[in-house]
Amino acid sequence: MNVIALALHIVGGVGVTVGICAVLLFCVWRVLYTIQQGTSYVRRLHQIPCSRCTYFTGDYRLKCAVNPMSALTEEAIGCGDYVCNSPAYGGLCSQDKMPYQHIKELVKQ
Ligand code: SF4
Repeated sequence: MNVIALALHIVGGVGVTVGICAVLLFCVWRVLYTIQQGTSYVRRLHQIPCSRCTYFTGDYRLKCAVNPMSALTEEAIGCGDYVCNSPAYGGLCSQDKMPYQHIKELVKQ
């Protein structure tokens, strides 16, 4: 009888340890997953080109004269009406690259 009780005690202790480790691993995985999701969402928001566009007004009442409903939203990513607002680049800067990256490419050529 004592042997059975001892075996149950050992198995129970191992089970609790494994359960605690599983819960901790799940929490760590969940935190890392959430950080990864947040990072990819922020990266996507940085692809919105409106702040570098000629048609962006900077006025919250009418953000864009061409596409007022999609300005500053994810719909604006890849907008066909995008025109670079910096005359230094002659409208050549692309939507997905910041101007300094475009300057680097021009210098290389
Ligand atoms: S034209 Fe397109 S890229 Fe330019 S501000 Fe309007 S929605 Fe944004």
